[in-house]
Amino acid sequence: MTNETGVLEWHARAKALRYATGHFIDGEHVQALAGGRFTVVNPATLEPLCEVAAGTSADVDRAVASARRAFASGIWRRMAPRERLAILSRYGQLIQSRAERFALLDTLCMGKPIRDMLSIDVPQAAQTFTYFAELCDKVDGAVTATSPEAFHYILREPLGVVGCIVPWNYPLLIAAWKVAPALAAGNSVILKPAEQAPLSALALAELFIEAGGPPGVFNVVNGLGETAGASLALHADVNKIAFTGSTEIGKLMLSYAGQSNMKRVSLECGGKSPQIFLADLEDLDRAVTYAINGIFANMGEVCNAGSRLLIDKPIAAAFVARFVELGRDAYRPGDPLDPRTNLGPLVTAAHRARVVSYIERGRQEGARVEFGADVPALPGSYVNPTLFSRVSNQMTIAREEIFGPVAAAIEVDGLQEALEIANDSKYGLAASVWTRDLRSAHMAVRDLEAGVIWVNCFDHGDMTQPFGGYKQSGQGRDKGLESLLAYTQTKSAWIHLG
Ligand code: NAD
Repeated sequence: MTNETGVLEWHARAKALRYATGHFIDGEHVQALAGGRFTVVNPATLEPLCEVAAGTSADVDRAVASARRAFASGIWRRMAPRERLAILSRYGQLIQSRAERFALLDTLCMGKPIRDMLSIDVPQAAQTFTYFAELCDKVDGAVTATSPEAFHYILREPLGVVGCIVPWNYPLLIAAWKVAPALAAGNSVILKPAEQAPLSALALAELFIEAGGPPGVFNVVNGLGETAGASLALHADVNKIAFTGSTEIGKLMLSYAGQSNMKRVSLECGGKSPQIFLADLEDLDRAVTYAINGIFANMGEVCNAGSRLLIDKPIAAAFVARFVELGRDAYRPGDPLDPRTNLGPLVTAAHRARVVSYIERGRQEGARVEFGADVPALPGSYVNPTLFSRVSNQMTIAREEIFGPVAAAIEVDGLQEALEIANDSKYGLAASVWTRDLRSAHMAVRDLEAGVIWVNCFDHGDMTQPFGGYKQSGQGRDKGLESLLAYTQTKSAWIHLG
């Protein structure tokens, strides 16, 4: 459908698009109690897009009260699991049926190419709901092997009210990764979207009601992180915060939990993912193509972006030369509403300034610019895809998360050195190794300090793959059964028979 729909048509649809800009509480769109609003800017034009409700602690209190009422009533958590399953499956289908709407909402706010929204974010968000829907009636308790004077069973119960705080780089999809398992486990949810991309969250919550979900079970509070986000994370009646965002704010979540009610916290934070390319890899062009996509897709605004390319000495020169040939024009900045565009603007002008300052640091610290390192003459907050070679792992561009389309090529001397450099990072979200040697592959899987490892590919996966990091990339996992269980708590019932 995308290919036939031209850029003019997408602009016409964007113009005709109507959407809510408040909060969604108790099954209704409502305004902020204090009336404040903040501006969302379209990064492709740097013009204001809309004004959105700036939530305060009063709005958060209202949403938490609604979520708690729904939880206490049992309307969702005590619903027969197969009924919950049916509602969440229908919900997944409804999300897919509104693909264009969701695609436009996120593209207009954060600049992701519309074709990526349609081919990746929306279908995967829909699939997230169907996957967790199917788990609703498959999570069992247990009876343990006690002596005959007791009968002991273990139950899994929902936690209560779950706050989900999400970033702007995959607004709909990351919200789905949190909200779907939380709902499948029977919790009530309050979603606090990123202030840069708040619109798809409201459309998502509204659709839950259309799917047959009870009011109050899924609420959205908009607002800035330090006000609405902090109020939610500090709230004494919230049982868990599921957070995706920067490591810096992730640490704050732990402290908010300690300052308030010791709520559970799961964290998906930043990364500086290494891709190791050993000299015996099978197909150089394939590896280079994955390296290009691994850092330039989604404008490099990807937590697991393969930002460090650790290339074995014997192939280093050929690898970089091929990356230049294949990568220089692979991603061309353009209008994200043009279905041919594969590189949109960065999320904000401020974020572009940050990425540009990292590029400057790269030059100053002696890395060599192979291509890019500049900004195109377009009205939005664009940065051209950039490759640095001759990078050392001590340089700022190899240590800090840039969150932009900037690759750092580092030469390594064999597997052992590659592993040492790969692990010399405060992050540990994802890593890959490219080799034909089974032993090297298994040693890399064993020794890499990262939550997700790929061998001879990058960024592959499906809903069964737990996603999350080691070290300061976070704790807890999204996707997979493990993530659903993390929205439950264990109750043990010991019945005396003697
Ligand atoms: P961020 O940490 O600035 O914001 C994330 C969310 O936290 C937003 O909703 C924001 O409003 C909220 N927030 C900010 N300050 C807060 C505070 N004091 N109290 C409560 N909430 C607060 O991150 P970002 O800039 O939106 O996203 C980029 C970051 O997210 C990158 O570091 C990236 O690596 C990370 N990320 C990680 C994953 C993952 O799965 N590991 C996925 C996507 C993005």
